[in-house]
Amino acid sequence: MLRIGIGTDTHRLVEGRALVLGGVHIASDRGPDSHSDGDALAHAIADAILGALCEGDIGVHFPDNDPQWSGANSMELLSRVMWLARERNLHVVNVDSTILLERPKIRTYVDSMRENIATALGVDSGCVSVKAKTGEGLDAVGQGLAVTAQAAVLMESNSA
Ligand SMILES: [Zn+2]
Repeated sequence: MLRIGIGTDTHRLVEGRALVLGGVHIASDRGPDSHSDGDALAHAIADAILGALCEGDIGVHFPDNDPQWSGANSMELLSRVMWLARERNLHVVNVDSTILLERPKIRTYVDSMRENIATALGVDSGCVSVKAKTGEGLDAVGQGLAVTAQAAVLMESNSA
């Protein structure tokens, strides 16, 4: 059995916050205004996996009014979502994702993100794609006011 899921996540960017994407700390003068570490890529992938499981979204599983998740490491959340998938006897076939961020340029960080995500999902990094795009100066991303991530994940039954 195959299951597909999609996820998207946006955070407002403010001065004085650390920017973390795919578990990688990125040198930046601004970061996400968020209850957790605001890792939009980890959140989008977690939502894609939950989508494949028909299990709602990360807001259901990790409520932002729950102090337990304040400043949470989102790679830890991603690992917890993956435990849920394993309970359903599902593994990840591949992940494709896109980060939309105007600045700084993040292409040099992409391979580290792929490694971190692959570790959390229990797959080879060759099964994890991370693409980096800008907003071409246009929308909230383009104005440097937000970071957005999109992800699609394909999952398969272990017994298939
Ligand atoms: Zn988020």
